[in-house]
Parts: sequence; C-alpha cells; structure tokens
Amino acid sequence: MKRIAVINQKGGVGKTTTTVSLGAALARKGYRLLMLDLDPQANLTVHVDKRPDLESNTMTSLLLEDAKLTDLVQETTTPNMLVVPSDSSLAGVEQVLANRIGRETILREALDAYAEDHELDFVLFDCPPSLGVLSANVLVAADLVVIPMQAEFLSLQGMAKLLEVIQLVQKRLNPDLEIACVLPCMVDGRTNLSAEVLREISEHFGSLLATTRIRNNVKLAEAPSFGRTIFEHAPESNGAADYEAFATEFLQMLGLATAEPVTEPDEAPPAETDDEAETDAVPSEPAGYVAPPGPMIDVPDRDEIGGDEIEDSELEDEPIAASPPAVADGDSEPDEQAAPTTPDEPTPAPAPDEPFERETEA
Ligand code: ATP
Ligand code: MG
Repeated sequence: MKRIAVINQKGGVGKTTTTVSLGAALARKGYRLLMLDLDPQANLTVHVDKRPDLESNTMTSLLLEDAKLTDLVQETTTPNMLVVPSDSSLAGVEQVLANRIGRETILREALDAYAEDHELDFVLFDCPPSLGVLSANVLVAADLVVIPMQAEFLSLQGMAKLLEVIQLVQKRLNPDLEIACVLPCMVDGRTNLSAEVLREISEHFGSLLATTRIRNNVKLAEAPSFGRTIFEHAPESNGAADYEAFATEFLQMLGLATAEPVTEPDEAPPAETDDEAETDAVPSEPAGYVAPPGPMIDVPDRDEIGGDEIEDSELEDEPIAASPPAVADGDSEPDEQAAPTTPDEPTPAPAPDEPFERETEA
C-alpha cells in the first residue's frame, strides 16, 4: 500500500482536484484506493457527491473519538475508489488536539490498523491549505508527497516552509517520507508568465518536477459542482487527458506498469459540449499533454518573476531524499494489472550539492 499526501499550504493550487482526479485515474486502471478528506472545507467530500452536513461519521470521529477507519469508509460512484468524508467540524480538531500527546500519529495508527484486514493499493490524502496538526498527521502517515503548484507569480512563496516541515517530519517522525513530484496545475500555455514560472520551478526542483502539465480546463472546474470526477463528467476533455497522463507518469515513478482501464469506454457518460477551446491552455496539443523533455534553458533571474522566497542555500542544507520511490509493496500489487518493473540500475541518492534532483535516466 502506497500512501500519498497531496499537499501545499497555499490555497487553491489544485490539491483537491489532483487528489480526486489522480485517484479516479488510478481506480480506472484497476487499483483499489482510499481517499481521505483532511480539509474542513470538505471540497473532496462534495466532489465525490457526499454531503458533508449530512455525514455522521467523518474524519473528525477518527481524530477525536477514536472511531475505527473501517466504520468511516464509504464507496463512491467510481469502482475501486473509496472515501472518508470530512465536514466543517474538522476545523475544531487542531485546537482540541493541540495538547494531546501523540497527536501527529493518530492517522498513521488508524491506517496501519485498517491495512491489517483490508487490501488497498493506494491511500490519497487531500490536505487543507495550512501546515497544522491535520497536515502533520498526513505527513506522518504518508510514504510519498505530491506537491501541486500553480504556475503563477509567487507560486514558490511558502515553498521553503513546506520543505522545512517535510524535512522535520522526515527527521523526527517519518524517515521514509519522500517527495514524489511537484505537479504544475492550471498551466496556461498561452502566457509567457506561465512558462517563466515553470522554468523557475524547474530550477528549484530539477527532475522532481513532473513531466505532465495540468492545463487550465473549465471541465475540471465544473466537475465538483456535479459531484463527479473528471472522467465521469467530461472523459474527452483535456483535464481528463492530463490527469490520465499524470497517473501514468506517477505509476512509472513507482516502477509500476500501467494497465488498460477497467471502465469500458461506453460505460462513461458522453462528453459534454466542448467549450474548452477558449479556456484550455494548449488547445492544439493532443490528449494528455506532456511537456517536451530536455533541460530547461534560458532561466530568467529570480527577481524578474518575484519567486524569491527559497534561497538556494536553504535547499542545500538538508537535501530531502529524492530518489524514486521504491516499487510498491509486493503484497499489495493488484493482480496482473500492474506488473512491477525493475529499473536497470538503482538510482543513486542525490549528492549533497544536488538537492531535489531525481535522476530519471540511467
Ligand atoms: P484549497 O487550498 O482551498 O483546498 P485546492 O488546492 O484544493 O484548494 P482545488 O480546489 O483543487 O485547489 O482548485 C481550486 C479551484 O480551481 C477549484 O474551483 C477547482 O475546480 C479549480 N481548478 C483546479 N484545477 C483546475 C484546472 N486545471 N483548470 C481549471 N480549474 C481548475
Ligand atoms: Mg482543497
């Protein structure tokens, strides 16, 4: 079972959209997964058509009342995809737990207990836009971190703090935690700013920057209001294609082969009228936009685009383990749907002067 934290304390960068869409893409490939809504805003809960106000058992019961995870898990309309909903009562949890001993390990213990008698391939955590006790619980319970990032002015602001918290959790509470990737979301390929910010992000994160770009896509913004995943709402949209491409890239990072979708094409509702031409960033691109490989060139001065929060020296102090995540646990691989591949050579740990580099090519 691989546990994936989707985290960025900056608000509105695409965390919930990434959690639901990556989750749905993996579920459609035959993986069984559980999504946990750790945000009092309950956006993920609404996105999968649950009603936060009417849910009696939510994340709050788990964190405060010692409820068992198995009693909170609900099915969604996507086969293989389970959810634990949240509601606004989660907002009070930080304060209640503030003085409780062992408050950061509640989620990990609950998941460990759940995993003893439930088969899951992935757990995805949708984090709130803050770095409090809820996010700490997620980082302690997780194996991998996916950082959605908007390609816009000041997108790197706050990143130093997030990386510092991740390093602290690695050092004290969860040495196995690794950053899987930084995922550019809401990319507008028509603007120079987006391209410049992406170069800036690439300069900081090197090969930890995912190859896939999630373009601006109105269907992704619409889907939550229908309580549907992007694959249910607009399977032909660029949003569906981009998250499908990201899921494939993500599985490759884990050394897992991709599999054919389990959902028959004619099971999906027809695509809605396509009005994306104006809103999609790179409308001429084929389905599943993946940025061209190769080193980024012509990196502008940091001052030019204002992303000056992270000092290189800060990043070099304590490089985060950034080798590719290990192949998923042998006992949790879905039968025949995800044959693990063995990389030709193990990827070496990053040299101290090359923080955040994930070598992807032997
Ligand atoms: P929060 O910090 O409030 O939890 P978030 O990081 O989870 O926000 P989302 O809720 O996923 O961000 O996205 C913010 C808004 O942008 C939502 O209305 C969502 O539907 C929309 N959105 C997300 N990704 C895209 C995209 N690629 N194209 C267009 N709209 C998007
Ligand atoms: Mg959210």
